[in-house]
Amino acid sequence: MTNYPPEPFRIKVVEPTKLVDQITRQEALANAGYNLFGLRSAVIFIDLLTDSGTGAMSHGQWSAMMQGDESYAGANSYYRLSSVMQDIFGFEHFVPTHQGRAAENILSTLLVKKGIYVPSNMHFDTTDANIRARGGNPTNLVIDQAFDPDDLYPFKGNLDLEKLKNFIQTVGEENIPFGMITITNNAGGGQPVSLENIRQVSAIYRQHKIPFFIDACRYAENAHFIRQREPGYADKSTLEIAREIFSLADGATMSAKKDALVNIGGFLAMNNEELYRKACNELILREGFPTYGGLAGRDLDAIAVGLIEGLDEDYLDYRLGQTAYLANNLREAGIPIMQPPGGHAVYVNAGKMLSHIPQKYFPGHALTVELYLRGGIRGVEIGSVMFAHNDPQTGEVVYPQLELVRLAIPRRVYTQSHLDYVVKIMASINEHREEVPGYRFTYAPELLRHFTARFEPIT
Ligand SMILES: *Cc1c(COP(=O)(O)O)cnc(C)c1O
Repeated sequence: MTNYPPEPFRIKVVEPTKLVDQITRQEALANAGYNLFGLRSAVIFIDLLTDSGTGAMSHGQWSAMMQGDESYAGANSYYRLSSVMQDIFGFEHFVPTHQGRAAENILSTLLVKKGIYVPSNMHFDTTDANIRARGGNPTNLVIDQAFDPDDLYPFKGNLDLEKLKNFIQTVGEENIPFGMITITNNAGGGQPVSLENIRQVSAIYRQHKIPFFIDACRYAENAHFIRQREPGYADKSTLEIAREIFSLADGATMSAKKDALVNIGGFLAMNNEELYRKACNELILREGFPTYGGLAGRDLDAIAVGLIEGLDEDYLDYRLGQTAYLANNLREAGIPIMQPPGGHAVYVNAGKMLSHIPQKYFPGHALTVELYLRGGIRGVEIGSVMFAHNDPQTGEVVYPQLELVRLAIPRRVYTQSHLDYVVKIMASINEHREEVPGYRFTYAPELLRHFTARFEPIT
């Protein structure tokens, strides 16, 4: 039995949840076409669909919200956030946005032209889509170890430096308006990037005069992994590590719904003055005046406090410890998972666990349905429902390498007993895994079909 540090908080407000009975779960699921995105949250007991915007705010954040200044221009809330932004990230300028993707939209509008390339370790799907929407080519250059579920390399989010050098050589630096890196690498299992890697990526981008933007959604979790795993950083604070990371970049995008511990918000930050002016104009067009972005003044205050709390080392010990706890206990119960556990989620290798279900009958989807039926738990399939597509040349279906189920852990929301319950349900599914049926579509839209598709079990 591995353990993790006790929650560095106590609970002052509670939100009741209920495990509705088996028959209600069965009916709700059938009505939703066996798609967990179609369920009302009222019939879900433990919701591990995402860690985005699902965290609990502290009393410090709630009381800061009461001081929110709703002035249209020049609000005090903006200046309080600005001072925290300066302290942690140190960029010359920033604009608040309503989410991370709004920051990506503005950055892409300003810098992406048809046919250009934007390299990264791995782009998150909204970043990928925003670059594509402007005609650009998002390119993933993560190290090969990222794709091996059993490889224990401590920084599986690293960008492959040789791949990056060759890539710049091949497409030409003039066709790369900016380069990125995502910390932690969400699309690759929440794996961290080392400071050494960020330093070298920065040096390569700078050598080619390519502006370097960091997708900073989980920068605090990444900083703590560096503290735990990278030689020379054990005695540095996460704040010092964060400052070192961002000193290597020219700007950042962030969804505050992750490591800023709020339910809504984000920002785009940069050093370049001209880019900032243009960003302000775009912001005014799409989001709002530069001192509030798409947010209320009180939201800015919640972010300002949340950014500081998100870097707290006791909190991060507990946070990363909790994820590792779930991962280790699932593994001890014989469940195949992606190793080592990342920061915000555990990825179950459903293809391996339900190896009797062929990919065309969606083993990952089958596991999410079973988790709900048996335990009222909601996870999300990251496999063929999400990614299988027809090859435009041959017309044949191309399946992804892995059939995964992601169990994302909301911040400061669930306790150890909740996680123990998840392990128990998963173990009971594993015992009866041969009985779990596959699924086929009864309806599937062309694009992003996982959100609205309907299914039936194969009996
Ligand atoms: C969540 C996320 C985004 C997008 O942020 P939203 O606030 O959901 O728009 C971008 N990049 C990464 C790595 C993310 O995890």
